[in-house]
Amino acid sequence: MKELEDKILEKGQVLNHDVLKVDSFLNHQVDSQLMYKIGQNFYEYFKAQPITKILTVESSGIAPAVMTGLFFQVPVVFARKHRSVTMNSDIFVADVYSFTKKVNNKISISKNFLQSSDNVLIVDDFLANGQAIAGLTDIINQAEATLYGIGIVIEKTFQKGRQMVEQQQIPIKSLARIAGFQNGQVIFAEE
Ligand code: 5GP
Repeated sequence: MKELEDKILEKGQVLNHDVLKVDSFLNHQVDSQLMYKIGQNFYEYFKAQPITKILTVESSGIAPAVMTGLFFQVPVVFARKHRSVTMNSDIFVADVYSFTKKVNNKISISKNFLQSSDNVLIVDDFLANGQAIAGLTDIINQAEATLYGIGIVIEKTFQKGRQMVEQQQIPIKSLARIAGFQNGQVIFAEE
């Protein structure tokens, strides 16, 4: 997605050999118009699928996931990293190792919001080693729901996540694919 790549080049900051900071439009301040177009792109790619629910992980997945849900006209559910006091014990739980924070999180989704009849599209901000996707996939399996695809805003092709997703033969669409960082510059993967 050209507009997203331009935004990454203009505003992204390469923090070290494997982390891109994009908090001016995705991870802290959110560019709502860009998110709208991101939702539209995921919809165009997956619209032939009978999606009934969008799943993501709080907090940075929520903005692109909500915009995608708007186009599909389906609810969006975000897995919580911290269990809310209002969540009763009827929850699905999975372990996720956080790439940026280097800690193990438990993510949870209330059983009220994911049923075996659901056809799920996962949307997330980044794909690095695929831990967030693995956790969400685990929860979808626990619910006996069906995973139809994965929409990623920014994929880093040099990390393990893409390989993991492809091994499981899950359709995936990434709107920007980063092949690496060189001298503080982002290098996009060839199509
Ligand atoms: P994974 O589970 O695929 O290893 O990592 C995915 C999660 O880690 C994303 O949801 C995102 O929050 C975070 N993450 C991974 N790589 C980056 C990065 O380069 N920059 C930022 N800002 N977040 C990242």
